[in-house]
Amino acid sequence: MLTAHLPSGYVLARAVRRPVAALLPVALLGAVLPDLDMIWFHLVDGGSVHHHHYWPHLPAVWGAVALVSLPLLNLKGWLAPGLVFFAAIAMHLILDTIAGGINWSWPAGDQLFAAVTVPAAYSHWIVSFILHWTFALELAVWAMAFWLYFGKTPA
Ligand SMILES: [Zn+2]
Repeated sequence: MLTAHLPSGYVLARAVRRPVAALLPVALLGAVLPDLDMIWFHLVDGGSVHHHHYWPHLPAVWGAVALVSLPLLNLKGWLAPGLVFFAAIAMHLILDTIAGGINWSWPAGDQLFAAVTVPAAYSHWIVSFILHWTFALELAVWAMAFWLYFGKTPA
């Protein structure tokens, strides 16, 4: 997913129907956090390794972090924000699985799994992604976020 992680976090926050401390910041942070590995990808690795191979894009890593941190967050009364955060992380990884590829088998394997392969139909990969039908899903997420933001607030 190229552009819709942040609005997907907004949609997630709006879908939560109970009061949660710091709901919107936690949902937005979780929705975009894995892509901070782009800094390492560009500045350190020089784009030599697909950033979806880095630990912030490994579901097993986040599962382990959740397993350790959620009980501790519960002790502090922060379970609900923690659950929203990890739900946003999971949503990020699921959205990246549509066309970008996520290594769901790590540590057993090292292969990225994508639901759809976007062919390199154009000279630049970004153009290939934007002109592929899967980009309509990103536009749908954006449309949903705009609709929720500018529409009526729930009762
Ligand atoms: Zn990502």
